[in-house]
Amino acid sequence: MALLTVLKDPDHRLREISAPVEKFDDELREFMASLLETMYHEQGMGIAAVQVGKLIRALIVDVPVEENGIKKQGAPIFLVNPVITYRSKEVVTLDEGCLSVREADDSFTEASVERPKSVTIKYYDLNEKKHILVVDGDNSNYDLWLARCLQHELDHLNGKLFIDLL
Ligand SMILES: [Zn+2]
Repeated sequence: MALLTVLKDPDHRLREISAPVEKFDDELREFMASLLETMYHEQGMGIAAVQVGKLIRALIVDVPVEENGIKKQGAPIFLVNPVITYRSKEVVTLDEGCLSVREADDSFTEASVERPKSVTIKYYDLNEKKHILVVDGDNSNYDLWLARCLQHELDHLNGKLFIDLL
């Protein structure tokens, strides 16, 4: 595993469409381990492969859970070739930031973004097993942010940044 360099807007690679993963091999698993390490190092709750310059449809989310006032991560979900199969009509506005979008002083740009509250996502794990992830934003704060984070990361695979939605 190795720390990878996170691309910053306006790097043109962040605007490209990532290609589907075809080989679920050790190279992919090693890359994703490094991507996870990089996400934690950068204190993110989500990261897409394109953000380190690898244009494949793969991403990781790990939304923190609050326990006794302390935010804890440690339950990462690895999603390969994810597709959103359902978006709720109900929307919610939440503040978003992105590891690739920074101010001149390198602090994160934050902004309120409206998106569907709940989503269903079909994806493959690192062993090419298919999963259906149903995330109901009404369930808990965790689900609310998981739905949000997944949509944000999915956008990266299509060359979209959250600042495009403002
Ligand atoms: Zn982002």
